[in-house]
Amino acid sequence: MLTIRKRLGMADMERLLDKAAKLIRRARAVVALTGAGISVESGIPAFRGTQGLWEKYDPMEYAHIDALRAHPEKVWRMLRELQQIVEGARPNPAHLSLARMEQLGFLRAIITQNIDHLHQDAGSRYVIEFHGSGHKLACLSCGERIPRHLVDLSSIPPRCFCGGVLKPDVVFFGEPIPWRALIQAQEESKNCDVMLVVGTSAVVAPACDMPYLAKDRGARIIEVNTEETPLTRTITDIFLQGSAGTILPKLVAILETMV
Ligand code: NAD
Repeated sequence: MLTIRKRLGMADMERLLDKAAKLIRRARAVVALTGAGISVESGIPAFRGTQGLWEKYDPMEYAHIDALRAHPEKVWRMLRELQQIVEGARPNPAHLSLARMEQLGFLRAIITQNIDHLHQDAGSRYVIEFHGSGHKLACLSCGERIPRHLVDLSSIPPRCFCGGVLKPDVVFFGEPIPWRALIQAQEESKNCDVMLVVGTSAVVAPACDMPYLAKDRGARIIEVNTEETPLTRTITDIFLQGSAGTILPKLVAILETMV
């Protein structure tokens, strides 16, 4: 496995970025799997790591569907704060780099675990939202979906026309993955020959199975993360250690010269 570590010199980093770019350039289909880490530089805290919101609210407690059903007002206090952070966030250079890769013909699809819509805001067109979207709310009683901007959050929990409690249309712990997103993600993972894994701790199933599906079919794995993950020493071929907002623009700059 090839790694970039902070203690390595610039020349080593450039050599590994160059190798990664060549793999991407030669690939038939490149798919990205992204996680909360790619949006950290947009100001949205990831679950892992000690950052603002999740020091106050334990995601394992607040992001479980049973908690929302049992204590909707309490969970909505957290959701309203998260919603405000997400709605104020803008794509960062990492999101923009993936959009540029798609535009250049070097990226087929993004499978994202994020619910923040920042890939689409950056211009990416084929985005599989594995864990749903914060842009809509869904009724726990009748299943109706309502655009977020039509719902007043000044009194919580917000309610549907039928009286049921609304939730963000995202996958909480204890809920299944939307079947269409799951099937699309599995197909893209099986059919790619390079998977670019960015900013995910790769521990939340079944999203974390996608790199293994890809690897089993012979794909090469390029990982971009500030820290090692369970993938790094097992299936990752090139580990680019650093922030996504720094690494991805460098990768794209090399790819621009290969068009
Ligand atoms: P995670 O919080 O478990 O892990 C984040 C990963 O990103 C870590 O491995 C960390 O080392 C890495 N990271 C942090 N900053 C980085 C940076 N600047 N550049 C590159 N890597 C960086 O996130 P996960 O694996 O996506 O799983 C957690 C779940 O949390 C997902 O289901 C996701 O839906 C949800 N979530 C989403 C958002 C969002 O939509 N932005 C935010 C928080 C949590």
